[in-house]
Amino acid sequence: MRLHGVAPTGRNYELWLSYRLGQNQQLREDIDKRIASGEGFSPEWCDQKYDQFFTALGTSAQIMLAGEKIAKDLTEVISFLKQAEEKSGDYGRTLETAATDLRRGMAPEQITQLVSSLAAATLDMANHNQQLNQELRRSTQEIDTLRTRLESVRMESLTDSLTGLSNRRMFDETLRLRIDEARAQRSELCLVLCDIDHFKRFNDTWGHHTGDQILRFLASALQAHARPDYLVARYGGEEFAMIMPRVNARIAAQTAETLRAAIQAKRLRRRSTNEDLGQVTVSVGIARLQPGDTPAGLIERADACLYASKRNGRNQITTDTTPVLYVA
Ligand code: GH3
Ligand code: MG
Ligand code: MG
Repeated sequence: MRLHGVAPTGRNYELWLSYRLGQNQQLREDIDKRIASGEGFSPEWCDQKYDQFFTALGTSAQIMLAGEKIAKDLTEVISFLKQAEEKSGDYGRTLETAATDLRRGMAPEQITQLVSSLAAATLDMANHNQQLNQELRRSTQEIDTLRTRLESVRMESLTDSLTGLSNRRMFDETLRLRIDEARAQRSELCLVLCDIDHFKRFNDTWGHHTGDQILRFLASALQAHARPDYLVARYGGEEFAMIMPRVNARIAAQTAETLRAAIQAKRLRRRSTNEDLGQVTVSVGIARLQPGDTPAGLIERADACLYASKRNGRNQITTDTTPVLYVA
């Protein structure tokens, strides 16, 4: 930090510690790029990165700004509509007066004058309408752009940037909804938690970058074993979760076992050097939704099963219904 002239504030320490630990790939890339460019680390830049990576402010600030922008646009349109209303009122009165005058009878030169003033008023009205139309079209386009941007910000806030899987927040929301749904439909639901075995050792041997590669491999393996209605999420650092709606414990255990075996069978190579990384294994815990379960209760049971898998020697699955049946 001293080398790059970064102020020693608490926020900056957090930012740079995370950079050193390689906890967030995007942050690491951003800082590396900044170092390479020689642009330096202004307090504003550091603040912006802190907000982006350490607080939800990045997202909520964007949403707030978009909301303000829409409000401002609408205020402009409303004021324009008000003006248009006044204008058309004036125009209407001009026409009425003209009609009254005509009914009373007028000299030809007066009529000529009246017609040209009516033409001017009509032209003015038409111009104003055209401006109003343009204004409305512009606002509609801007609001559309903002809507698209908000949707992508919302998606971003629910996605894990390293693996592209759903993040913890999306997991929590989905689990709650799926439990409610299972209760309403009286259907089954299973939760699978999956943790990489000895991942710290792996990181220590091969470095965080290769560790990240493994996390992405795990993510794609999980995704490949998931039905479209399952939710696969990065639950924590090297822990993954799969929510399986309308699935009984037997099918859940079969899926988890196939997944475990596929991960173990994969020969992994380091992308940069093509070195053989050996195999990676996972321990899995599976819990079935039971009457009276809260989301936290269900997670706790899956977690307990996961730790039973770890205790019994790793590279295996444990379910809360038939723990002995699926030990590898
Ligand atoms: P166990 O078999 O008991 O699960 O052992 P473990 O080493 O996998 O578990 P432990 O909880 O001790 O270590 C987890 C490691 O996961 C520590 C941390 O370095 C690593 N990790 C967490 N998040 C990331 C990440 O985003 N990238 C990388 N490369 N490693 C991560
Ligand atoms: Mg862990
Ligand atoms: Mg682990």
